[in-house]
Amino acid sequence: MNRYYYLILIVLLPFNVFSQLSQELVVYSQEINADSLKNIVEELQNFGSRYAFNPNRVEIANYLKNRLQEYGWDAKLDSFYMENFEYPYHSGIINTGWQYNVVADKKGIYNPDTFFVVGAHYDSYASYDTLTYFNNSPGADDNASSVAAILEIARMFQKYNIQPIKTLRIELYAAEELGLHGSNYAIQQSHYRYNEHIAAMMNLDMIGYNPDTINADSVKLVYYDNSQEFTDFCKQTTLNYTSLIPNTTTEFQQNSDSWSYYSWGRKAIFLQESQMHPFYHTHNDLSTTLNYNYMKKITQLAFSIAYLASTTNQYYPISIKEITSQPQFTLQLNTNPVKDKIQFTYTSTNSQDTRFQIINQMGKIVKEGKLSKHKVFSSQYSIPIPHLKQGIYLLKIENQVEKIIVVSPLS
Ligand SMILES: [Zn+2]
Repeated sequence: MNRYYYLILIVLLPFNVFSQLSQELVVYSQEINADSLKNIVEELQNFGSRYAFNPNRVEIANYLKNRLQEYGWDAKLDSFYMENFEYPYHSGIINTGWQYNVVADKKGIYNPDTFFVVGAHYDSYASYDTLTYFNNSPGADDNASSVAAILEIARMFQKYNIQPIKTLRIELYAAEELGLHGSNYAIQQSHYRYNEHIAAMMNLDMIGYNPDTINADSVKLVYYDNSQEFTDFCKQTTLNYTSLIPNTTTEFQQNSDSWSYYSWGRKAIFLQESQMHPFYHTHNDLSTTLNYNYMKKITQLAFSIAYLASTTNQYYPISIKEITSQPQFTLQLNTNPVKDKIQFTYTSTNSQDTRFQIINQMGKIVKEGKLSKHKVFSSQYSIPIPHLKQGIYLLKIENQVEKIIVVSPLS
């Protein structure tokens, strides 16, 4: 290859790789809901304080675990012990006790031994309110906002039965405010105990504040010097799938949980609002100060990154053990447009009884069920759709998606 071709490749490759938008991701993303985000922020704020050594910490962790379980994720608490920890610093107050990370995996169907981690801390404190730092810290922006985003991402994966090819892991960290303790524990477990292969980690911390004047649509992508390719992927995903403007920066890169992953040699990115919350670490970090439309956009970005990184090989670091016998699926429509039934050929090496979904352009599932009920013979299927209005829909089976155009039965 001569230098000229080499240059062309460098110029064209990123655009080719990212130029095909995922239609299903566009549809799923629209379902992300500002009210759902607000509800969760308010529920977390209603704990009064999420200071790491308050007695309610196990109750908060269980609330988060239960939420993830309701969304069909196999969530558990992973606890660690903090001993003789002086806080506030130089106060003489010594704290000792268990802390609870909340962890949930959605196993990859091809590369379960490669992990994409989405993390955020759930503890809060009001360190600028010297007398009330432990009992009045609503932490709406810092960091109920990001916990809400991650729960919303978890809901999307369940709602659309999205199957990642790498394992998607959710981590909600304890005791970040006291020195990134939860994330340090998590990466050390992964490293020493399980020797896991982490493709990358995406951290969210403070994503809900935007006074809607300047930089209304800017998002900070805080990056690390070992993660150039992953950062480019996140930047391109911002441009492709959101109306946000990515602002890559190294500001605050040591101040949140992605630093733990970076310190242990893992690739990481950290998403944050473009302007600092004016009442950061005080009792005034309240839900009423947040801009839920802006928060929805950053949640859509986080969902898009998690979706593409875990269900496709667009961002590809996968382990050495992968590519053994990967399940094969094929979905082919017999005709399209369709009228009162969808006829198609479907083959799969997966022996389980598979489900199908038909999803409209608003992201709503309009029909779903067991595929076996609609088998005609061998790999031929026919799903009746007498009540579907004209329009464009997606037929989704396992990780296969086909666009369907429904025309009136009379035409
Ligand atoms: Zn924070």
